[in-house]
Amino acid sequence: MATFGNLSARLTETFKNLRSKGKLSAADVDGTVREIRRALLEADVSLDVVKDFTGRVRERALGDEVNRALNPAQQVVQIVNEELVGILGGEQRRLQFAKNPPTVIMLAGLQGAGKTTLAGKLAKWLKGQGHTPLLVASDLQRPNAVTQLGVVAEQAGVAIFAPEPGNGVGDPVKVARDGVREAEAKHYDFVIVDTAGRLGVDAELMRQAADIRKAVNPDEVLFVIDAMIGQDAVATAKAFQEGVDFTGVVLTKLDGDARGGAALSIRSLTGRPILFASTGEGLDDFEPFHPDRMASRILD
Ligand code: GDP
Repeated sequence: MATFGNLSARLTETFKNLRSKGKLSAADVDGTVREIRRALLEADVSLDVVKDFTGRVRERALGDEVNRALNPAQQVVQIVNEELVGILGGEQRRLQFAKNPPTVIMLAGLQGAGKTTLAGKLAKWLKGQGHTPLLVASDLQRPNAVTQLGVVAEQAGVAIFAPEPGNGVGDPVKVARDGVREAEAKHYDFVIVDTAGRLGVDAELMRQAADIRKAVNPDEVLFVIDAMIGQDAVATAKAFQEGVDFTGVVLTKLDGDARGGAALSIRSLTGRPILFASTGEGLDDFEPFHPDRMASRILD
């Protein structure tokens, strides 16, 4: 993943300087923590998250576990690794299944975040595990959205429920509700509801998403966020959390070369786990999110 290229390089450099030392003085630790702080801020990680993170690293790095370590520098790297896993969520959180199928998954996020593409990726991934997902086209805002969802459904080889073109069906809440009913009637075991996004957070969009949530009572509401949106991630995530109260996060465009700070901020800012990572435009560029693997990639 190129997203963390700069951050990785900066951290590697910092740790290289540290390794040339034997015992670490408080000044060594402070210098290292300052470098880590700078690297994270440059990667667009939110200031509050950076402060907490570096505070914890500093406290631990000055403590006994480092003092007594055979290799203090190595121990500091280990601490940074553990703290990175921590801000990424600790344990992997898997998708929640409904006790009685279908499991209903609703997608929410800004336009362009990658929701429609994700609907196809998720459907293909579920199908590969023997499930029978139904895609539901509740994004009636963009003229092209239903067609686009049709294309990804075909690529994924899964079924789609969409309003008939031109018959005046314009109510996304009704489409979502009817889609879930269709899944129940025809025994699909997953329903993925694609919803409308706007370029910016907007009250009407939030109301519509909240109405869809109420109508279909999803098992998961996944907030889809472009990992490259930098500092805007904070306000966007908070608005969606207040508006629809999502249960999990999907990070998209982790293949990009931007700074990726959203990835490191989102869990701490929202308290919601990251479930999946999207790493390209193809339907297979997608994987369940593992905090420990992501931390290792950053510290690679
Ligand atoms: P939506 O408006 O939220 O439904 O977003 P779309 O699914 O239409 O995606 C917007 C654009 O981002 C499309 O051109 C996608 O091909 C592209 N895209 C989606 N996910 C990824 C990803 O993980 N990596 C990259 N590079 N592009 C992506």
